[in-house]
Amino acid sequence: MSTRRIVDLRIDACWIVPVEPAGVLTGHAVIVDDGRIVALVPAAEADAAYAPRETRPLASHVLIPGLVNAHTHTAMTLLRGIADDVPLRPWLEQYIWPREGRFVSPEFVFDGTLLGAAEMLRGGITCCNDMYFYPDAAARAYEIAGMRALLGMPVLDFPTPYAADADAYLTRGLAARDAFRHVPLLSFALAPHAPYTVGDATWARIVMYARQLDLPIQTHLAETRAEVDDALATTGVTPLARLDRLGVTGPSFVAIHAVHVTNVDIAMLARHGCHVVHCPASNMKLASGVAPVPTLLAQGVNVALGSDGAASNNRLDLFSEMRLASLLAKVTTGDAAALPAAMALQMATLNGARALGLADVTGSLLPGKHADLVAVDLSEVATQPVFDPVSHLVNAADRGCVSDVWVGGVRIMADRTLATIDESKVLARTRAWQHKLATF
Ligand SMILES: [Zn+2]
Repeated sequence: MSTRRIVDLRIDACWIVPVEPAGVLTGHAVIVDDGRIVALVPAAEADAAYAPRETRPLASHVLIPGLVNAHTHTAMTLLRGIADDVPLRPWLEQYIWPREGRFVSPEFVFDGTLLGAAEMLRGGITCCNDMYFYPDAAARAYEIAGMRALLGMPVLDFPTPYAADADAYLTRGLAARDAFRHVPLLSFALAPHAPYTVGDATWARIVMYARQLDLPIQTHLAETRAEVDDALATTGVTPLARLDRLGVTGPSFVAIHAVHVTNVDIAMLARHGCHVVHCPASNMKLASGVAPVPTLLAQGVNVALGSDGAASNNRLDLFSEMRLASLLAKVTTGDAAALPAAMALQMATLNGARALGLADVTGSLLPGKHADLVAVDLSEVATQPVFDPVSHLVNAADRGCVSDVWVGGVRIMADRTLATIDESKVLARTRAWQHKLATF
């Protein structure tokens, strides 16, 4: 009688990069049951110990943890390419905010989020940190897509069609959180937009809610030189120092961008166990500058990677963010050894999960974690030969190499076909929005 344990899934990959622990496994299989990783074992051991209901051989692939896009505004994918080659402030004030004021609605957010989720899943992103209006509409889209998401509840101190004042933003966000509490793939965070759009009184209320409800706080911080100069002129301190005085900093605080941070700011981020989300493409495209990532990492700050919204990037693509992060670190330090491929991959996976408070759930292939898995096919001419699959993930492969994606053990993409999202329907809805936005 066989004593093999019956399990849901066995995946044999040419290479497996668990991220945690570091390194590359060959001749191994990942065993998945009930949505979670059971074991990573040599193939012969898998033969002897497990009787899988389904087996997936990946002869020319590297299997990695699902990528974590640690900062985006997914619904803004509908605004992709609407105003390029414009600096941040006029980009927001002349192009983005007027269109958002006119068009943003639950339908816009649902359709845009489904479009962005389809793009991200195709590119191996199984989890994202979304910050946008109508998080309840976004939550419906992620639930359909089968994608893991941390939904930021947006807060601003000025009115939009979504909410009239800070109270209304918080009330609406918390109602969305209550409505989707039962969905295991979703979690929520407080997402005040930025120090310059949210006043001290509102920050104090956000800190109170964060403590009472055990919620993370995330905000855009020190994205531009002008933001920091304005803050110094009006408050006498950097934006981060102001937030620190207000009690915002701590191990659940996520600073998005952190381009123009001082050494004192960096020490403060490290001391409080804060997280930084580096968005290299967005920072370069808006000419914001380059975040001091090698220094942040050297000081022990957890640095994750984000795409930012598709209107400022214009792709939700962590393969390109990994490559840009690595290249920028090298060129700004004059050190070719700065930010090696393994660290870029860790930033796009485990560090993202840590920043989102999901390190027990995803971000690496440790047994016990949920089976968020991505197969990257390295058999094409552009990725041959393969001496080091980790280097290839950052320097040679792109998101088009992603063939299969699982979230929580559920196969979301099989042989480059999405199982959960009807792409023809998504594209038809996108064309309808394009027509409306173009005639604005
Ligand atoms: Zn952003």
